[in-house]
Amino acid sequence: MRLETKLIQAGVGRDEKTGAVSFPVYYATAYRHPALGQSTGFDYTRTANPTRTVLEEAIAEAESGDAGFACASGMAAVHTVMGLFSQGDHLIVSLDLYGGTYRLFEQVLSRYGLSFTYVDLRDLEAVHNALRAETKAIFVETPTNPLMQITDLRQIAGLAKQHGLLTIVDNTFMTPYCQRPLELGADIVLHSATKYLGGHNDVLAGLIVTKGEELSEKIRFLHNSIGAVLGPQDSWLLVRGMKTLALRMERHQTNALAVAKKLQEHPAVAEVFYPGLQEHPGHAIQASQASGYSGMVSFRVRSAEQVGLFLQNLRIVSFAESLGGVESLCTYPATQTHADIPLEVREYVGVCDRLLRLSVGIEHPEDLIADLFQALDASLVVGGAAR
Ligand SMILES: *Cc1c(COP(=O)(O)O)cnc(C)c1O
Repeated sequence: MRLETKLIQAGVGRDEKTGAVSFPVYYATAYRHPALGQSTGFDYTRTANPTRTVLEEAIAEAESGDAGFACASGMAAVHTVMGLFSQGDHLIVSLDLYGGTYRLFEQVLSRYGLSFTYVDLRDLEAVHNALRAETKAIFVETPTNPLMQITDLRQIAGLAKQHGLLTIVDNTFMTPYCQRPLELGADIVLHSATKYLGGHNDVLAGLIVTKGEELSEKIRFLHNSIGAVLGPQDSWLLVRGMKTLALRMERHQTNALAVAKKLQEHPAVAEVFYPGLQEHPGHAIQASQASGYSGMVSFRVRSAEQVGLFLQNLRIVSFAESLGGVESLCTYPATQTHADIPLEVREYVGVCDRLLRLSVGIEHPEDLIADLFQALDASLVVGGAAR
């Protein structure tokens, strides 16, 4: 079966008693044992829940992994994976990282004795220079958020293997429809399923997929021990969202390419970042390791004064945090997703106060472009970017 079919078949007919096509929501927290020493496979819902199991098996298969784990949020998924590491351990991390992950690493996990070095993972020499005796893993986001820089996953996973390190990939922006890091040598993939996998801006969830039995058992232990698991209703919502992933991603990317090309033409726009553009510096690597470019587009306007007017004039695109849903959203990383990253760090990586990030939805592309253009036109009333 291809990915589209696998996702649609998730849970279909698996409730044998009823033959339900849509797998039911099992709210039960406790399950009767047939006899002493026996189990139906379900004992207590934190450890395993039937609805969550359907979801976990679906994402494991979609990512070509051996086991899947559903968590209460993307951050819970990151935190659960970080449970693999112990006091004194060191990780090498993508420089231009999701702000919440940076906050977890720097303001929470650093207090437990973990340390992190943020490196531009496109620069192998910089990665080599960051290696220490205590380094245990490389944590990758590609494309990075929000600058859409592309890391060569085969190269990083190869380097990690050479040095006995784990490769952990946050695949939120790409989804298994566009990119499957475990097939490229990574050991663990995680997702904020709140984004494309859920797809409708209505469920908070995280997913982890592991390769290999030993690692899968370690994460199974942590998932159950930490207990930041996904509830049954949200598991059901996520399965239902994932069934249309392929269709949605196709539309997200054709819309994103159309928007990215058009934005380049507007005089209020200084720079556009989308890996699907031929001239994007990571375009060739992306084409070699992924089957698509997803729907995230960032751009810089010409002056920071334009930002307020632009956002205020958007009508179809919502000025809101998050991404990956059918509705288009626009984020201002400097004050929203990346507010917890110190100013010097933000500016160094290029998340300046002229940068905006679009999650291009699946509306009609002409409607989106018209909305963005009228808001950009309005933004030119002030600022130094006269037409
Ligand atoms: C949103 C996001 C997260 C955090 O996920 P939540 O579901 O909000 O907890 C992690 N990584 C990336 C790339 C994200 O976009």
